[in-house]
Amino acid sequence: MPFTPVHLGPGALLKGFLGANFSFVVFGGSQVLIDLEPLIQLLRGSTALHGPSHTMLGALVIGLVATLLGKPIGQAFLKLIGYQKPEISWRVSAISAYLGTFSHILVDGIMHSDMAPWAPLSHHNPLLGLISVANLHYVCLGAGIVGGIWIAARYLYKTDA
Ligand SMILES: [Zn+2]
Repeated sequence: MPFTPVHLGPGALLKGFLGANFSFVVFGGSQVLIDLEPLIQLLRGSTALHGPSHTMLGALVIGLVATLLGKPIGQAFLKLIGYQKPEISWRVSAISAYLGTFSHILVDGIMHSDMAPWAPLSHHNPLLGLISVANLHYVCLGAGIVGGIWIAARYLYKTDA
């Protein structure tokens, strides 16, 4: 399902782990960008939702777009909400965008049978069923909880956030 919040769990964990070297806003933006294709397919009534956007090649291209759009849009958004340090470097934008698109392929690949991550080289999905969908959701939820606590601890102890 497009824009599933499960992807944000790993994002929170990455933010906790990487601190100022990671932008949650750019990561979130990359999730929206990569799920535009399934959204459009869903609106068209198609049953094949996950095409070129949900491949390694797609993640590479969409990661670049998310890097280029993520820095200016992310900074503008952070300024708008009054965030203290709204600057996002190109390095942080790229790290966050690519962790976003590739983690998305990993999570979606486990649960969507219509995905072919290595297309056009292979139409097989080696990630499918790696763990059950229920366990995948638990892992993502757990990552979100641990990440949330980690981020809160960074703010409380005033390390880089
Ligand atoms: Zn997706």
